[in-house]
Amino acid sequence: MIRVSDITTYLKCPRMCYFMSRGHELTKDITPEYLQRLLLKELALTYGSAFNKDDKPSILSGELDRISGEIRTIYRAELAGIDDAALSNAVSGVSSCLGDICSGLSSSGDFYGQECADIEPLLHSEKFGLSGSPDKLVKIDSKLIPSIIKTGAMPENGIWQGDRLQLTAYAMLAEEKYNSVIERGFVEYARWGTVREAVIKRNERRKVLQIRDRVKKIQEGFMPERPGDAPCERCGFNGMCEVKSTLAARFF
Ligand code: SF4
Repeated sequence: MIRVSDITTYLKCPRMCYFMSRGHELTKDITPEYLQRLLLKELALTYGSAFNKDDKPSILSGELDRISGEIRTIYRAELAGIDDAALSNAVSGVSSCLGDICSGLSSSGDFYGQECADIEPLLHSEKFGLSGSPDKLVKIDSKLIPSIIKTGAMPENGIWQGDRLQLTAYAMLAEEKYNSVIERGFVEYARWGTVREAVIKRNERRKVLQIRDRVKKIQEGFMPERPGDAPCERCGFNGMCEVKSTLAARFF
């Protein structure tokens, strides 16, 4: 079964998929930015309690306080050994974003007023050989629509291509599970309290299936070509990634 996260890894670099499928792990340094992202993701799950209130800053500040006490329990494995000073710094960083978040929420329309039907539900499809967990399923007009929370940069317009494919994969899984047709999805840019809607397009459904097939071949042992724009400088597999590309890989 291919995971949606394998597809997002493939989009960063197909070779990362190769090494991960061979049991190597990409170790994540617990940087202040990484800690802030975890806090922001948890905070974004509470925006529905504040989006239409006058005292948004104090509501979110209270939620951030609660989350800072719970984050080590929620991300038990990831944050094992993190010290209080690092956590406190990350909380201050997120706290400094609350102004932007609150003004974004004020103009986010009624998205946060919709019913959040599920958080991180496991969706899988035997038919597609695909599984994954969107951050949320939002109930709109009796349909369950996937929404993903992003804690990194927000594009000037629309959503990033990788996010679009991730959302499409979740929409396909939700359609299978709930026997529905899903024509849109949402990306929540947590750092700005901003939500963008994306139309689920036919060519992106096709692309998800193509990438799924490529990931499957990689998991079966195929070493893909090193992409020209691969993020090698920040990649934990750099030291083991000197295998020469094969002629077959160049056509993959
Ligand atoms: S070192 Fe570069 S090519 Fe190799 S897996 Fe990492 S990003 Fe990909």
